[in-house]
Amino acid sequence: MRIDLHTHSDRSDGTTTPTELVNHAGKRGIDVLAITDHDTTEGWAEAAEAAEREGLTLVRGIEVSCKLEGSAVHLLAYLPDPTYEPLAAELGRILEGRNARLPATLAKLRHLGIEIEEDDVRRVAGDAAAMGRPHVADALVEKGVVQDRSEAFDTYLGSRGPAYVKRYAAPLEEMVRMVAAAGGVSVVAHPWGRRYTHQALDEARFAALQDEGLAGIEVDHQDHDERERETLRAIARNLDLVVTGSSDYHGDGKVDHDLGCNTTDPEDFARLVDLARASAAASGRTTPTVLVP
Ligand code: AMP
Ligand code: FE
Ligand code: FE
Ligand code: ZN
Repeated sequence: MRIDLHTHSDRSDGTTTPTELVNHAGKRGIDVLAITDHDTTEGWAEAAEAAEREGLTLVRGIEVSCKLEGSAVHLLAYLPDPTYEPLAAELGRILEGRNARLPATLAKLRHLGIEIEEDDVRRVAGDAAAMGRPHVADALVEKGVVQDRSEAFDTYLGSRGPAYVKRYAAPLEEMVRMVAAAGGVSVVAHPWGRRYTHQALDEARFAALQDEGLAGIEVDHQDHDERERETLRAIARNLDLVVTGSSDYHGDGKVDHDLGCNTTDPEDFARLVDLARASAAASGRTTPTVLVP
């Protein structure tokens, strides 16, 4: 059984529609797929319809933009009730922060002699729920300023780049609690990824997050080398946290992140689903079920 628990559609910064994402997963022999767009559930309904047609198990998730001691941390929230008001409000605040950042980013680019209009970015962003740097990157590609998204991040948009602008992100511990209160389970995405520099996520921190309801750690991710994976796996084993592996697929938007390039062990997936069931029961919320064909 091939299980991929972290993928993006064009409702955030992926380049395929939710339907294309699910169909592609079917073709790649994925049995269980999670759709985890950044900060939005907008792709859920379409993905669920496609999954039913394709005969694929779908897990509804969100990759929530969080911060810990000033650094960015991404939290995968699986199967929360999306109508739980505190969660919906916080996601709204993050999406607003994304859109508010755009003019400031474009002003910085203009200062560097690069003229891009908000409409250019909105057009390439298409159906996305909110703007992200990848959409600005796509507009830069369209203008012929850079070759691809990677070059745009390396040259302008990365956190040390000349066109970087901070935006709102949710406090990590608070979001872990909120996801649990919404009846879902959370997993820290690529905790030691190359693009994220937070030494703060050590075993003691994971233990503290587990006390707030954290269910697991995304260990197998392209941003982790072999040593990092082994160390994270040992931490997860010590703390009895679920271990996940996933592609972080973004369509053509990210190279070397093909569907199924990392996968989750069926036993870990079963534990995650059990924890989600327990969380739903404890919260009393009506949560999405894992859509099984
Ligand atoms: P934002 O969410 O707007 O802050 O933009 C961050 C997103 O950009 C991440 O979630 C990644 O999907 C994407 N990203 C970061 N670095 C790169 C890169 N070098 N190439 C392509 N996409 C990237
Ligand atoms: Fe992304
Ligand atoms: Fe991420
Ligand atoms: Zn992601």
